[in-house]
Amino acid sequence: MNRCSPSECSLPLNSQCKAPVQIQLFNYNEVPHFLKGNPYVTGGYPSLPSLHLCMRSLLAWTNETVNVWSHLLGFLVFLGLCLWDNIVWMPSINGSFTDRVILTIGLLCYQFCMLASTGYHLFRCHSETACNKWLALDLTGISVGLLGCYLPGIHLGFYCLSVWRDVYLLVIGGLFVAVFIFQTQPKYYSDNWFRRRLVLYCFLTGYGVIPAVHWVYLNGGLSAPVVQMFAPKIAVVYLLGLLAFFFYVSKFPEKVFPGRFNFIGSSHQMWHVVVVVAFVWWHHSGQLLLMYRLGQPCNN
Ligand SMILES: [Zn+2]
Repeated sequence: MNRCSPSECSLPLNSQCKAPVQIQLFNYNEVPHFLKGNPYVTGGYPSLPSLHLCMRSLLAWTNETVNVWSHLLGFLVFLGLCLWDNIVWMPSINGSFTDRVILTIGLLCYQFCMLASTGYHLFRCHSETACNKWLALDLTGISVGLLGCYLPGIHLGFYCLSVWRDVYLLVIGGLFVAVFIFQTQPKYYSDNWFRRRLVLYCFLTGYGVIPAVHWVYLNGGLSAPVVQMFAPKIAVVYLLGLLAFFFYVSKFPEKVFPGRFNFIGSSHQMWHVVVVVAFVWWHHSGQLLLMYRLGQPCNN
């Protein structure tokens, strides 16, 4: 592998190449095969011999910086929301113990997803072994993040329909246990299984339409006040999911302008940001639905 010239060093933010953190960057055709995957991101690849340097690359400007920081900050946001909800918000609205547990599990799932992704983008450049192990954790994190959307969604949506709530929680539980067993297959993380992984994530996301439509029906149809209020929030989270999927699959915009989005604006970075926005939106929608339910207790 060719070493880069000093001009290709990644600089710590607002600094010069001679500053303490110097991370050498490589072009796509110079990096080992396990770092390849998106030929339209043509440069800016860190390839680092030690975990210590990987940690130091947190403060360097590479093609992974936005990927790392978008989900590291996302983790801090969901950690902050978790503390705020439990210490301040839940006591103020008199939410039940179950409400608190379910919303907290949802936020812990988001935090796991964010941390796994941060670790993957920080350490994948170290070695093929590190890359594969962190990729497994990153892909598991996507499933865990989706589980974190379903649990509060089902619990709050079917708040007054406890039988259906339990049925859907059981179905979702079974579905995700099956997915996690499926993910123990070593082939699952290979490039050859990229399309199968996509199909699985689409199925996991798309399955939510069934309880959503059922929820509309059980609440009296589209004209029911609770449906009028919260169906648009479900629509928005699905639109955000579609947008995230679009970036993940299309590799837009770098496919149209190869090399122009190496450091900022690439499809994977956009996917990261949209995922954080979708999780924040869904959590906020859950908070609103819980407050609505506590304000209008179930009839029976
Ligand atoms: Zn990622």
